[in-house]
Formats: sequence, C-alpha cells, structure tokens
Amino acid sequence: MISAEIPDKESNPLALVAVENYMIHGPCGDANKNSPCMHKGKCQKHFPKKFVKTTIVDDEGYPVYRRWDTGAFIEKKGVKLNNLFVAPYNRNLLTKFDAHINAKIYDQHRSVKGYFNLIPITENWQVRDYHSTWRTNKLFYPDKCLVTSLESIAVTQTKLIEWMKCNDEYPQARSLTYSNFPSKWVWNATERKWTERKNGKCIGRIYFAYGEKYYLRMLLNLFKGAISCAYIRAINGVIHPIFKDACYSLGLLDDGKEWNVCLDEASVWASGSQLQQLFVTILLLNEVVSPTDLWRTNAVKLSEDMAYILKRKMGMQAARFSDEQLQNHALIEIEDLLKKRRENNG
Ligand SMILES: [Zn+2]
Repeated sequence: MISAEIPDKESNPLALVAVENYMIHGPCGDANKNSPCMHKGKCQKHFPKKFVKTTIVDDEGYPVYRRWDTGAFIEKKGVKLNNLFVAPYNRNLLTKFDAHINAKIYDQHRSVKGYFNLIPITENWQVRDYHSTWRTNKLFYPDKCLVTSLESIAVTQTKLIEWMKCNDEYPQARSLTYSNFPSKWVWNATERKWTERKNGKCIGRIYFAYGEKYYLRMLLNLFKGAISCAYIRAINGVIHPIFKDACYSLGLLDDGKEWNVCLDEASVWASGSQLQQLFVTILLLNEVVSPTDLWRTNAVKLSEDMAYILKRKMGMQAARFSDEQLQNHALIEIEDLLKKRRENNG
C-alpha cells in the first residue's frame, strides 16, 4: 500500500514519525536554493508535486499518487512542508525500517554491546568459541540454554523460555507460534509464567529487533511447539550455530529484496548522497546477507550525483567521468560514511 501523504497523528503515530524522518523532501526551491536536489534553479526530483484527488496512472504508465490538501504539514528548517513534499512510501516497510533504527539507537544508548543470544550447551559444537565472543553477562539456565543477555530484555527471555516449558508440558500449547501464543495464553508477570486464557482474545506481538534478535523473531513467527533454542535453529536436521544461518537456510533471507525495495523507494526523492547515507544505515543494521550484491544492484542510484559533486570539487564543469569512475567515487564516499558512523557509534 503506497501513500504520499502525511499520516494522521491519532491513528498512525508511528508512520507519522517515520515519514517525518525519512519521507519529507526539502526544503528546496526558493526556500533553500542550495539543497543538493537543486540544479539550474529547479528541483531535480520535481518537488513540490501537485494536489491529486485520487491515485491514477499517467499516460506513460507511472502512478501519480493521491495528495489531498489537508492542511497538514511538517516543519523542516523553519519551512512548512505539506503533502506536496511527501515522497511516496510503503507504510509497512517504512515503519518497520524505522523501528529497526530505533531499536539500534536504544541499545546503543544503553551502551551495551552484544546481541541477545540463546545458545544450547548440550550440543557438541564449539560453545567455547561463543564464550569468548560474548562478553556481556552470562547466566546458565537449567533449561539447557546459555543465555547471554541485555538486562533490558530479561523479561522477553523469561517469556520465551517459559513458552518452551509450556510446549514441553502442555500438548495444546504446541499448536501456536510464539507470536500467536498470547492469543490463547496470558503472561502473568508476578508469577512469571504463562497460563491458559479463560476468555477474551489478545493479538500477540513481538517487538522489533535487530541482529540475532531480529532473526530469532523471524523464526519465532514460523515455529510451533519449540522446547529448546536448538529446536528453533534446527533446520532439516542441521543445527545452525546462529539464528541468522537458520533463517538463511530456510530461504528467508534470499536476496535482500526488502532492502532493494527500500532503496528503490527512497530514490524517488533522495539525492545520491542521501541514498548513500541510507545505504550505510542499512549496512550498519548488520542484516544484509550480501552487501556486495546490494551495492551492485543499486550502484547506479548510489552514484547518481557523483558527477555533479566531482565537477564542483575539481572546479571543472566540462569534466566527463565513466560510470565505473563515478561508482568508485561513490564507494569511497560510502567507506568514509561508514567510518564516521562507526566512530560516532563507538
Ligand atoms: Zn528538491
């Protein structure tokens, strides 16, 4: 579902924040003549758009999205930007992406390094190798799981482990995935256990995460009746050392499609250098299986304004560059951005 309007604050606060952060173009034009999108006094991305009553497909087959004059606006650099400055976005993908970043920032804020991880100690693969890589608090859980954790998610862990216990104990529990578990079972915070719901319904929810947590969540959406962590990582008889590998072997991470879509959508409004920022953000989420493939697929977009930037740097308007040269320079920019972001993140 693609939209090109400022979301409603009441009914869609998450989408509003995400749109505010990522999907507002500008200010450019007269309000900001130095915006990177400005070329010969015109916005190269064709903002502001026009008000449109309903979404239509134009003569050349391109969609023109609905933009109503609702009076809603978002202020950037002291300029009020209304629906005419909203880049088309996919609401689900956008809020998901935003939540990813927030989760990342939140964890960094707590300055705890390392991912939530559950490692069975009964398997005979090299648990010790993992020991040396996880430096955060470790505790042994009698359920044969070695839990490496962040304090903040202690409750999540307990819930997860208790879910496995339920699966072990009650056959009727095994028909639900972890995400659907709260539809029939209720978490009792005082007793720290799940009890079967007597009545009423509740839609279960797993919160957004990144890194191993993210992959674990992906798997939890699929698996029913798990009684140990190893069970979740066991795919076709192979126990994978980390959840990411398990996801990969299930084909869940095929080709990084969602990141391509994300960059595609952003390219409608973002300049090449803004796209580079986005690309770096995506890489820092540590969820891209093949950064090289992601780069190859998007190299043209990511080097879009390199010619313009290089000409300005060199003071030679007549200079010509090959695609390969432009892409090499874009890669250098990306490397710099990565370095800076890593330094900032400690
Ligand atoms: Zn512009």
